[in-house]
Amino acid sequence: MQSSTSLSGQNLFSFVEEKATSLSNLLYKKIKKSPIEHGHFSIIVGSSCSGKSLALIKLYWSLNKKPPENKQVIFCQPMVDRRDVVKDYIRSRTKEGIPAISFSSKSQIEKIFHDYDVVIVDEIQLTPHDLQSYFLKELHLFLDRGGFFVCAGLDYNSLGGEFIFPALLKTRAHKIHHLYSLCSMCGKPADRFDQRLINGIPANVNMPDFVGPTDSITYEPRCSDCLIVKK
Ligand SMILES: [Zn+2]
Repeated sequence: MQSSTSLSGQNLFSFVEEKATSLSNLLYKKIKKSPIEHGHFSIIVGSSCSGKSLALIKLYWSLNKKPPENKQVIFCQPMVDRRDVVKDYIRSRTKEGIPAISFSSKSQIEKIFHDYDVVIVDEIQLTPHDLQSYFLKELHLFLDRGGFFVCAGLDYNSLGGEFIFPALLKTRAHKIHHLYSLCSMCGKPADRFDQRLINGIPANVNMPDFVGPTDSITYEPRCSDCLIVKK
């Protein structure tokens, strides 16, 4: 099968990094000038390798370098048992990383939204089902208090469907930022889907929606024409 070699070099990285940098700069400026009494909610979506975590990591460094006045900032992600999602750490495909709080309970979610003015969450699609409703309630209260919320995650799965929590959050967000990678097969923009491969072969549709990468299970960005959902 065709490999992603032709697109996986410096060109693809520059393409992704440029867009991650400009999004990070945009969010940084918004956070800096956002009045404390006006809540704001931005969601970043896109396929894997599209620079979502990279944008958050760059935002972290900008906020660290020149922190916004009178605003406490926290970076978080759901705690999940997956080797690609490290506890208390947000990591991009470039292996860059930043410290973050991994949350796994309602009391942690409440504390995060109550103790901070700017809450930034990566891998939002991995929020456990039994925490989603509570998360949404606390998020609305946070926004009503003037909080600034940014989350990033996959909105489409490798079966061609949507992840439900990001789909819901997109209907509540004030701004949706789409990032995209390039299709590993044809090189066209890939803004939604990841192909799940098992030892290089497209996976069957009957597999669960949520499966982390392993030595044999891998994911690569694909455009809608090149996504294969095997029945
Ligand atoms: Zn394609």
